[in-house]
Amino acid sequence: LELQLLHAQKMESIGTLAGGIAHDFNNILTAIIGYGDMTLMNMNPEDPQHRNLVFMLEAARRAAALAKDLLLFSRKQISVKKVVDLNEIVRSVEKFLQRIIGEDIDCIMSLESVALPVFADAHQLEQVLMNLATNARDAMPDGGSLSIATERISLDDAFIATHAYGSSGSYALLTVTDTGMGMDDETCRQIFDPFFTTKEIGKGTGLGMSVVYGIIKQHEGHIALNSEPGAGTTFKIYLPLNVTKLTEQEAEVSPEKPVTG
Ligand code: ADP
Ligand code: MG
Repeated sequence: LELQLLHAQKMESIGTLAGGIAHDFNNILTAIIGYGDMTLMNMNPEDPQHRNLVFMLEAARRAAALAKDLLLFSRKQISVKKVVDLNEIVRSVEKFLQRIIGEDIDCIMSLESVALPVFADAHQLEQVLMNLATNARDAMPDGGSLSIATERISLDDAFIATHAYGSSGSYALLTVTDTGMGMDDETCRQIFDPFFTTKEIGKGTGLGMSVVYGIIKQHEGHIALNSEPGAGTTFKIYLPLNVTKLTEQEAEVSPEKPVTG
């Protein structure tokens, strides 16, 4: 437990530090890109410096994307939770995901036939899906398929005991599988560490999965992965099913509202 606490504190200070820097960088880069774009627009494309400026702006945009990721990672993201249907969230990002993964990767959806009410921040869960899809795309440079499935399952005490997850009961299970390059054990162990990346500079920030982890924890959920080099990767995300919880708004209006009756 102590080790976990230490780890959490370390992560928090990294987050605060990164957030401060990212904020300043973001402002600086906005200025650089703004003035750069203006200069570019007023420049003759035949000018020998035109090409250089285009490259400079490209680099600045990459830096801005990194700063944005850092901000996302460090910001004490306040989740605005209400009861939402996980299926709805998956459906709402389907087009977006397809755009992320491109045309060489098939997206196969298989959603539970009944609604899966979870007490969640829809925007954050969308972000989870987008981060997983981005990684899946990077793992399948030669194409493949991305499968997204939802189902309602109940975790019994035996499962909880062996997996050391929260409490038994009904869960919404979100399974995201790719047919990509997979990972060795060493990579699997580090995947949720902030700034851990195997991608080349400019391509990966190493923040996607730590953001995913943080969001799932905030939802009292669990995330597990199964991967093997060359055999693809499967992520399983468990979110407690919620049928009785009120939305925050409702809870504010009638805090005494009885749960049954
Ligand atoms: P980034 O994508 O910026 O590298 P992430 O936190 O999203 O950072 O992922 C960390 C690392 O985990 C990746 O660099 C990659 O090595 C590995 N990884 C994550 N998802 C997958 C996947 N679906 N298939 C293979 N490797 C993955
Ligand atoms: Mg990523």
